[in-house]
Amino acid sequence: MPSPSTPHHELPRPAPGAAEHPALDLVNSVILVPGGGTVDALATPETATAWLVERDLAPSGAPLQEYCASRLTGLRGQIRDLFRSVVADEAPPAEVLEGVNTALRLAPATEVLRWEPDQGLVRVAAHPVTQVVEYAMSALAADAVGLVTSPEATSLTACTARSCRRFFLRTHARRHWCSTRCGNRVRAARAYARRVPAEPAIR
Ligand SMILES: [Zn+2]
Repeated sequence: MPSPSTPHHELPRPAPGAAEHPALDLVNSVILVPGGGTVDALATPETATAWLVERDLAPSGAPLQEYCASRLTGLRGQIRDLFRSVVADEAPPAEVLEGVNTALRLAPATEVLRWEPDQGLVRVAAHPVTQVVEYAMSALAADAVGLVTSPEATSLTACTARSCRRFFLRTHARRHWCSTRCGNRVRAARAYARRVPAEPAIR
């Protein structure tokens, strides 16, 4: 379902941990905007392709088809549910485990050895121009699995600001927000609530 689209520049800076973990970046690629609606970096096959290319998860010049882009957003939903379970310290639903495992097996995400005349032997990301989405999904699932099974999993946090759905890796124990923008919003709302007495509940 296409979302009302807002210009790209409104996307906030990547959340802590997203630069190191493309799976975290994937989960945060659709955000709520104040006043309703969403900004989705994967809203169309073109933007989804650009998102992958920017993160070196796909070659340029091999655009995703509509069907492939929707598989990618399907995986995003499953990784989001996986992260939600980790944050809640609960077992993930069986279909979430199955979805992530299916993506993991789509293609080997392993980097391959290549001979470059000017560099010698180098290990590089495999970028076949076929199975583009399979490679990307496999790499993203592998990153998600690596994150949730590592000690870093205890730092995984869902931003507690209202109308923010981003996940991030806590850089210190008391950090509750994915960005200073969210932190400022929450503090401003609290200050407002202190100044304005609560209205009696209407029944
Ligand atoms: Zn936030």
